[in-house]
Amino acid sequence: MRLSEAQIADVKARVDLAGLARELGAGLRKSGKKLVGSCPICGGGRSAQRFEVEGDAWVCAVCQDGGDAIRLLMRAKGCEFREAVERLGGARAMSEEETRALDERRRRKEEKAARAAEQYRRREIEAVRRIWDRSMAIGLDVAERYLAARACRAPQSAMLRCAPELVYFHGEEKDDRGRRVPRVIHRGPALLAAVQDNAGAFCALHMTYLRADGGGKAEIFDPETGEPLPAKKVRGSKRGGHIVLRHCEAPRRLFIGEGIETVLSVATALKVARRLRVDDAFWSSVDLGNLGGGATATIPHPFLKHANGHAQRLPGPWPDLDAPAIAIPESVEELVLLGDGDSERVLTEMTLERAQRRYERDGRVIRCAFAPEGKDFNDLLKEKAG
Ligand SMILES: [Zn+2]
Repeated sequence: MRLSEAQIADVKARVDLAGLARELGAGLRKSGKKLVGSCPICGGGRSAQRFEVEGDAWVCAVCQDGGDAIRLLMRAKGCEFREAVERLGGARAMSEEETRALDERRRRKEEKAARAAEQYRRREIEAVRRIWDRSMAIGLDVAERYLAARACRAPQSAMLRCAPELVYFHGEEKDDRGRRVPRVIHRGPALLAAVQDNAGAFCALHMTYLRADGGGKAEIFDPETGEPLPAKKVRGSKRGGHIVLRHCEAPRRLFIGEGIETVLSVATALKVARRLRVDDAFWSSVDLGNLGGGATATIPHPFLKHANGHAQRLPGPWPDLDAPAIAIPESVEELVLLGDGDSERVLTEMTLERAQRRYERDGRVIRCAFAPEGKDFNDLLKEKAG
């Protein structure tokens, strides 16, 4: 028998999503209204920030996936919907009246949540747009010194800027009126990158906090736990977005990789070798998940396990073509997918395989370029430059 929406909602209402995620191997810490940490599907280690739980919904930036407790269990265990429902306690019989009342309550709750999410999304994009508009075009400043220290040069058309001083928020504190506000734990220069959607509209801001002298990334620690915090942050809607690092109107060859430094390293190496073409474009996919987009299913990882001994899974090789993803311009005849040796190897290979399937077309060649084990393209560039 098919379960009604009300019965499914009733199963979910009985589950503590954060508790379930932890049971499945997630390591979660509080961050504002959310819990963030490692993913119970694809892992990520102690300082991971890829997985988020807010209320009864979860999302993972690497899996490019998200949803409710049932979906989490299906993805983490590789099981079918009915089995997941049974594992969560099973559906109970309901009268028609009860079903109607629950349906109505659920519909109202969903509408409210969708409105709040859309409002938050718009406010975030406006806020980061202001940061972007106020910052300077990259020039003789800290961000350029940072790139130069990595032997990288930013092309003229790169959507990169520098903020001389940007605040870093982490957690919350009370202001003088007793209201909870985001807590500032660091201020310093930052390399900014504009993330744009497939229509070319500004949709998020990628921020890399830098040391005052530009010699490297800033070292920022949680004032309470002393744990190192990531020097890179993204605000806005990054899903399906990309950063243009070299613009070309109708590119015939496109290089796309996860990190800004990775992609700039390859662009710089080609320029130095005089192999850069006028119709080459270079993009960063912001994160690894965005490079391959969503998958139809997860597969077991060949050897990685969670701290609790549960097998780790990862998004499989088949693209979910209905999920939002980066669109590659039709003019691209040669697509080069860049895989860094510094991300987990199997996850990177699977992501590139998924991208290959997603973007294949008649008359288009797709190549995967891997940096040697344990190295990234920037290490190679610096070795050459040194
Ligand atoms: Zn994940």
